Amino acid sequence: MRVRLAPSPTGTLHIGTARTAVFNWLFARRQGGAFLLRIEDTDKERSKPEYTANILDGLQWLGLNWDAEPVIQSARIAEHRAAIQQLLDSGHAYRCFASEAELTAMREQQAAEKKAPRYDNRHRDLTPEQQQAFIAEGRQATIRFRIDDNASITWTDLVRGPMRWSGSDLGGDMVIARRAPADQIGDPLYNLVVVVDDAAMAISHVIRGEDHIANTAKQLLLYEALGAEAPVFAHTPLILNQEGKKLSKRDGVTSVSEFRAMGYTAEALANYMTLLGWSPPEGMGERFTLAEAAAVFDFERVNRAGARFDWDKLNWLNGQVLHGLGPETLREQLLPLWAAEGWGSASNSSNSPEANPGWQIELCSLIGPSLSLLADGVEQARPFFTTPELQEAAAAQLASEGARPALAALLERLPEGALEADQAQVLLGEACAAAGVKKGVIMKSLRAALLGSLQGPDLLATWLLLHRSGADRPRISCCL
Ligand code: GLU
Repeated sequence: MRVRLAPSPTGTLHIGTARTAVFNWLFARRQGGAFLLRIEDTDKERSKPEYTANILDGLQWLGLNWDAEPVIQSARIAEHRAAIQQLLDSGHAYRCFASEAELTAMREQQAAEKKAPRYDNRHRDLTPEQQQAFIAEGRQATIRFRIDDNASITWTDLVRGPMRWSGSDLGGDMVIARRAPADQIGDPLYNLVVVVDDAAMAISHVIRGEDHIANTAKQLLLYEALGAEAPVFAHTPLILNQEGKKLSKRDGVTSVSEFRAMGYTAEALANYMTLLGWSPPEGMGERFTLAEAAAVFDFERVNRAGARFDWDKLNWLNGQVLHGLGPETLREQLLPLWAAEGWGSASNSSNSPEANPGWQIELCSLIGPSLSLLADGVEQARPFFTTPELQEAAAAQLASEGARPALAALLERLPEGALEADQAQVLLGEACAAAGVKKGVIMKSLRAALLGSLQGPDLLATWLLLHRSGADRPRISCCL
């Protein structure tokens, strides 16, 4: 069992390609087969080495390890040309001298007659004399593969079941090599090279997006003509946006590196992509690792319908992963993000309480449960590292009746040294009694003074942490 991912390095690793990679990887791991890569870099203008690097890096980050050195498609052009020569020799392919202008005129005519655009096979059966005449005119030729209109193409798709295509739906004889002088073979094209490479790599299962279904019909004809055994095909559903359209660049974030930069973890993204089109078996739940999914993955549970991208679910999964990290690991992951803000680093002042790992781990225990993105750990930590600005609602709270007297009473009782949870509770009670306010008033006012906001994590824990860094006293007195 051998599968492959065949990305074109004409852009960064797209979420659709990554999801195809996930399904290939899961299937290979489940079946004990090989997961291979082929870089389809034959589009010389658009292919870039930095995109190849981005794709490999993204796959590695997601944990989709591959089993052999990636095959570089452009290095195999001699094999592609040899296959085209074989098709010419066997009469399955021929040279077509139709010029671009003639083909355009043909398509315009078809449009005017409200017919579907197709090549009318006009040069399929040229006599040697006709060919010579075109060559004498100095015309170049593409190479076309004959597609019999009466051909019936069938396969059993692992996702979509029995499939049937008619040769007449494939747009006429297909170009397999670009225009070139008639004594040469021009650049080989996608359908031909994919078949030649998949056959050479002994790929047993081709798993790819359903936008390739019509290509599969054409490729099956090529396998037959080349005398090669066709693989099994599985066409996975498209990823759709909120409007139910195919997810595209216009939808904003679509590349794996962008998700990564936004603070999504590899584990959550891989988990989420597995759910884009695959339903886990009963009882498994939606939160799992790739290895757990690989233990049960099969195509029976891959849906035919497009999979709508659901940010809420991705965020939820990412939160689940972050919550499972534990405060020490979370701190390690947040340190570089904090350092970028100039917080908590040794250079900041190594003996400040905020630079103390123990203090930071406590901060992570406090904010960890409410994170859904790693980057949230910057925003939520901000009021612990820097004095926050007073928000409107917090200012209103501090201006309300009893707020300032209660805080003043608390400040009077605030110890210089350590403060423990029980003692803090007692102080709050005493301050309430002294100022004649209800407990709610002092709690809300203290939160407003400490965080500049009425929202935030557990108040008592927040206060104790800020007390340890010495930040509570100035923040409270500043509000009086
Ligand atoms: N390079 C093609 C793509 O990126 C590969 C399609 C296939 O898997 O055959 O769409």
